[in-house]
Amino acid sequence: MSAENSADFDLVIVGAGMAGAALALAVADLPIKVALIEAQAVREGWPAIDDSVFDYDARVSALTESSRGFLDELGAWSDIVSRRACAYTDMEVWDGEGTGRIHFAASEVKRAALGHIVENRLINASLINGLRENARVKCFFGMPVETMDRQQGLISLKLAGGKLVRSPLVVAADGANSKIREWAGFVTREWDYHHHAIVATVETESAHKNTAWQRFLPEGPLAFLPLSDAAGEQRYCSIVWSVKPDIAEALMSLGDDDFCRELAAKFEHRLGSVVACSRRFSFPLRQRHAADYVSDGVVLLGDAAHTIHPLAGQGINLGFQDAMALADECRRACERGLSLSDTGVLNRYQRRRKGGNLAMMAMMEGFQHLFETPAMPLRLLRNTGMRWLDSALPLKRQIIAKAMGLSDKP
Ligand SMILES: Cc1cc2nc3c(=O)[nH]c(=O)nc-3n(C[C@H](O)[C@H](O)[C@H](O)COP(=O)(O)OP(=O)(O)OC[C@H]3O[C@@H](n4cnc5c(N)ncnc54)[C@H](O)[C@@H]3O)c2cc1C
Repeated sequence: MSAENSADFDLVIVGAGMAGAALALAVADLPIKVALIEAQAVREGWPAIDDSVFDYDARVSALTESSRGFLDELGAWSDIVSRRACAYTDMEVWDGEGTGRIHFAASEVKRAALGHIVENRLINASLINGLRENARVKCFFGMPVETMDRQQGLISLKLAGGKLVRSPLVVAADGANSKIREWAGFVTREWDYHHHAIVATVETESAHKNTAWQRFLPEGPLAFLPLSDAAGEQRYCSIVWSVKPDIAEALMSLGDDDFCRELAAKFEHRLGSVVACSRRFSFPLRQRHAADYVSDGVVLLGDAAHTIHPLAGQGINLGFQDAMALADECRRACERGLSLSDTGVLNRYQRRRKGGNLAMMAMMEGFQHLFETPAMPLRLLRNTGMRWLDSALPLKRQIIAKAMGLSDKP
């Protein structure tokens, strides 16, 4: 292998999705050589933005205050918010099978917003633009890792086109179906939700009032997430509709008019009729959690470590918390003159992240079962519970703070 076709780094991140790109930017100023490898070609600059139901990215994230703060520290937030992000001030959750309802308001925790709904393509573009400006991280874009080997304490990654990249520490940020995780022999616990999520952008008759809406139905949750538009009419929402695979297939095969009618009816016409819908996408939902996040110089991050039901919109928020913790541990290691692949350094990262991720996944699992069951005693319990919780302000404040990724104190 010629010298120009191989390169050595202190840290290699595989995957420039939101989690991997955020980690790369967070460690960019450390005195180490960092590489970021991405399978897909990455466009330069910003995507053009147009206020039409067909223009929004169908994949959006409900960013917590903690994630927003992290993006701000990375210098990525102001460019996003100046383009398009919707601050939501309220959240309305109700049981499709009864009278239970909870309303969360940012004013209850003396905040301006509960969070922001942002298109994934804008988050990614801002992080990648930041990396291009910083120029300290070597980026290999459009070059998927094809094989992984270990030799004398170094991990060698062969990229498409033949380039060889070596490092004592490789971060797998290559998503839910991570190849790096598989090649490194990590054990995962996985279970199928037997659900598919249909996502799309819709235009509604009435304004969304900067509220995130979620109706729990026996067949799965249906969310309308508010999107921002230049005219301020508030009539675009991103929907996430989680249903059994056969129902998803039937919904995907409907014509647009029939789909819009079905969607508005399931949503109890809370925002009037659904007047237009973008192209729809359907994803199978699997929950997955790696038994360990760290093994022999390989570290799992974001969806490569854990994938979670989208009902609480926590997936990338957990991924950003992973990135914050790992960047922090890398910084500490540099300050103390420790190798980044030091077992103590990596185990600290695992200790900081695994418990919190597992707790969030268990909570989502519990929610899903609670709302899926048609049994009368549980229906009564959850309806009474929701009404009671709606009136229990101190407890509601704690839940809001947790969901915003803040400490429990308002
Ligand atoms: C329907 C739906 C709705 C969701 N809504 C929300 C929400 O509201 N809020 C929220 O927080 N989360 C949400 N999520 C979850 C969120 O989208 C994911 O948690 C997040 O995108 C994961 O980011 P990541 O960077 O870890 O992985 P990914 O985004 O999957 O990125 C992995 C990257 O690795 C690259 N890659 C893969 N293999 C290789 C290889 N061999 N070599 C090099 N590169 C490679 C890929 O090209 C990709 O760019 C939702 C998920 C779904 C399915």
